[in-house]
Amino acid sequence: MEGKVKTLSITRRNNRWYVSFVVETEPKLLPKTGKEIGIDMGLQAFLTTSDGQQVEAPKYFRSSERQLAKAQRRLSRRKKGSNRRKKARLLVAKAHERITNQRLDFCHKVTCSLVQRYDGFFAENLNIKGMVRHRYLSKSVSDAAWGMFLSILKSKAENAGRRYREVSPNGTSQRCSGCGETVKKSLSTRIHRCPFCGLLLDRDINAAINIQRLGRSLQGGAATATPLN
Ligand SMILES: [Zn+2]
Repeated sequence: MEGKVKTLSITRRNNRWYVSFVVETEPKLLPKTGKEIGIDMGLQAFLTTSDGQQVEAPKYFRSSERQLAKAQRRLSRRKKGSNRRKKARLLVAKAHERITNQRLDFCHKVTCSLVQRYDGFFAENLNIKGMVRHRYLSKSVSDAAWGMFLSILKSKAENAGRRYREVSPNGTSQRCSGCGETVKKSLSTRIHRCPFCGLLLDRDINAAINIQRLGRSLQGGAATATPLN
């Protein structure tokens, strides 16, 4: 156990026992890398960075989702008050729990690696982004993991002495990261093709670059920042 134990709690969920310790630790500052990135959260790739890396959502997200749907259908068929219904309800709860654990595990691994490699992070404010997207897209497991991912990234970043900042998502996917012009595209258009400056780029990388620029300009910016109009 690392740090000073402050509290200990024992809980039971779905017939399983859990022990949680809350410990107090000193922030562990990581060495500077001189690099910062913009991060675009998406459905095609779970996330895309402004330097062109993409992280896919693990395949098991989907299969767990199917398992949950199956358990939910089974539950709805069981007679109210019956023992079989009680069992079916437990299976639904377990499927939910499994999904939560998988998301957490995935988010911890990816954020860990990012915090090691970058000094600063810019991401979109999901409260605004969510409203724009969910009108067209049904909620998926990776979608639901966005918020979890960013809150873990924020706390890990701050604990390591890194910067984390959220920006408004408005226009980040439509704006050209090369010339700043607006290039309208639907959600299904995967490539950003700018008729003004000729830039050709994956749409999510283009968005991630815009997010990074916007973040930099808001914080007063590094020397290379180009403020957006
Ligand atoms: Zn352009």
